Amino acid sequence: MRSAIDSEALIADNEQLRAELQDLLQQAHINQSIIERHQAFDLKLIGASEFRELIEVMLTVMPGVFSLETVTLSLIDGDYAIQRILRDLQIGINEFPKLLFLKQALAFPDDDLTRADEKPRLGPYVAALHGPLFPHYEPVSVAVLPLVRQHRLLGYLALGSAYGERFTRSLATDFIERLATIAAVCLENVINNERLKHIGLTDPLTGVNNRRYIEQRMQEEVARSQRDRSALSCLFIDIDHFKRVNDQFGHQSGDDVLREVAARIKKELRLSDALGRFGGEEFVVLLTHATREDAARIAERIRAGVCSRGVMIEGSRDPLKITASIGAAALTPPDRSRPAAEVKQAMLKAADQALYQAKEAGRNRVMLAAGD
Ligand code: GH3
Ligand code: MG
Ligand code: MG
Repeated sequence: MRSAIDSEALIADNEQLRAELQDLLQQAHINQSIIERHQAFDLKLIGASEFRELIEVMLTVMPGVFSLETVTLSLIDGDYAIQRILRDLQIGINEFPKLLFLKQALAFPDDDLTRADEKPRLGPYVAALHGPLFPHYEPVSVAVLPLVRQHRLLGYLALGSAYGERFTRSLATDFIERLATIAAVCLENVINNERLKHIGLTDPLTGVNNRRYIEQRMQEEVARSQRDRSALSCLFIDIDHFKRVNDQFGHQSGDDVLREVAARIKKELRLSDALGRFGGEEFVVLLTHATREDAARIAERIRAGVCSRGVMIEGSRDPLKITASIGAAALTPPDRSRPAAEVKQAMLKAADQALYQAKEAGRNRVMLAAGD
């Protein structure tokens, strides 16, 4: 009798154990697949070599992989340095509504659970605290991951869930900390890459684009105008008698004039136009969607802007009168039968020849290349 009860109990025990084992196995499978998904995601983050790509992975891929309602990335960019680089590299910030820029670090209250500034903060969403990180969607619980590199806070990766139990203060943060570390390294890396690219395309004296950039951009714009049959123009600008400035007032003053002229040209341009220093005292402007008439009008405005008032330089009591000559050439309609590189060269050459004519005709004037 006893043994019958024992064996019944044993069978019941056994069944229960089996069920538990089954649960554990199932949980192990789920964990395994979560780990695999996370590892695949880490590889995507690490593999992103450009800013645009990394932002895509963080803001578009990540919510799907981690079943989150929203992910935002906020970069601390008080001096607009990052935004300027992205704009110059033609990375449209408007493409990424979940990429945010903050003037400074957020001030979180000093509670015991999350004292260390470098630790992720998990818990219920509090509008007064987290609002700036979630401008478009109000989550119920959040994880805010500070992205820190060499003790410098780059920004925050903010994860938002519609469920209160998703991120709680008591949740272990090892995994999230690891994610924050990887994200910070990747972010610093792509920003540095873009910074280098930017330096390689910028003229250090005037801060405008350099010749390499303008030639590259011009070829892209020529190809685009060939595709869209849209107008495109370029201006070749050369400061008049610039050698005299150097000879009379020194190279330093010459540099000041170059900087001032670059700024005056830039002031007359739209965001979609490009200005580059082509050589010594020569600048090239690329005007997108600009016909011959548009180019003539803008060139005249630039010419007038350059000589509108004297330039203050060291070593001279009176402001120096500076003028420039401009040659303009247009692609209307763009020639689609020739390669973009050839069309670009032809346009530059036409603008250069028009510039030469402007010099011949007495300087401080605009000349249009003969239309074809
Ligand atoms: P033109 O009206 O015919 O253009 O006369 P110009 O004197 O402007 O032309 P030229 O080509 O004879 O002289 C250009 C001068 O630009 C010569 C060179 O010393 C100076 N230059 C070139 N690069 C720089 C620079 O980076 N800084 C300074 N200060 N001068 C430069
Ligand atoms: Mg010159
Ligand atoms: Mg000159």
